[in-house]
Amino acid sequence: MNSFNYLSPKTIEQAISLSGQYGEKAKFIAGGTDIVVKLKKGEIKPEYLISLRKIKELTKFFKDYKTGELVISAMVTHASLEKSLIIQNKYPIIYDAVSNIGSLQVRNIGTIGGNLINAVPSADGAIPLIALDGIAVLYGSNGERFVKIKDLFVAPYKTILKPDEILKKIIIPKQAQNTGSAYIKFGRRAAMELPLVGIGVLLILDNDLKTCLKARIALGVAGPVRDSIRGKAWYRKEIIQVQVKRMGLKCLEIINNNYC
Ligand SMILES: Cc1cc2nc3c(=O)[nH]c(=O)nc-3n(C[C@H](O)[C@H](O)[C@H](O)COP(=O)(O)OP(=O)(O)OC[C@H]3O[C@@H](n4cnc5c(N)ncnc54)[C@H](O)[C@@H]3O)c2cc1C
Repeated sequence: MNSFNYLSPKTIEQAISLSGQYGEKAKFIAGGTDIVVKLKKGEIKPEYLISLRKIKELTKFFKDYKTGELVISAMVTHASLEKSLIIQNKYPIIYDAVSNIGSLQVRNIGTIGGNLINAVPSADGAIPLIALDGIAVLYGSNGERFVKIKDLFVAPYKTILKPDEILKKIIIPKQAQNTGSAYIKFGRRAAMELPLVGIGVLLILDNDLKTCLKARIALGVAGPVRDSIRGKAWYRKEIIQVQVKRMGLKCLEIINNNYC
């Protein structure tokens, strides 16, 4: 691993300014669970690492009861989400995803922001946020911009983020009544394994609990080129057909249980 300078700004503005100053020579680091692997393998050789850990604003996580929105800042860890009662009770799709990421150690330091910006097709954290129609708030030298999470990704390992921008937070819009959501990380092993396919489903029913008002399906590792070391395209297609239906049924169960 090459040597580098480790910078610890205390505000988002300082982080952006440092990134602007060092340009391509610098990289942001959050929990480090993805980037340190790349550093060790020599895949990237930044001269400066700009740590986001001391920026308090990036750790905010709350439900805004005026707007009904859920705000998850970029440095919120998978473990914080997993432990949250709001996530457990109201956003089961997020709970299903984050509680199965890596190991406890990885979840304790790995952040939702790092998971999104690393932009691997198997990112467990991204699928639920797409299904929930989440919005990413990006912040750079030109100020803030709001982008739907479904539009954040351009290609594997590539997002629309500009070099001097950071992901500040994610906003999940107010959930409609009678909403159910579920995620399954489908793979050979339950722990310490990236998904063969990640499947997220969100269902909104009318008050009769029979009419479907909206259904959203988000899939991970299911792009146009699907063969990989973890599985062939034909197998993935079969799994998707079966598991989307199962997740839809799970959503119905959640809605009915909440209604009783
Ligand atoms: C053993 C192991 C098991 C794992 N298992 C899983 C798994 O099951 N499922 C899964 O999805 N992932 C898994 N991962 C990957 C990883 O833990 C997650 O993707 C994690 O959420 C990354 O977050 P981080 O904070 O560690 O990101 P970092 O490694 O710090 O950063 C990742 C990338 O995002 C950029 N970045 C980070 N935050 C920001 C920000 N706010 N704004 C702009 N850029 C930013 C960094 O510059 C870097 O390029 C695993 C990793 C390991 C080592």
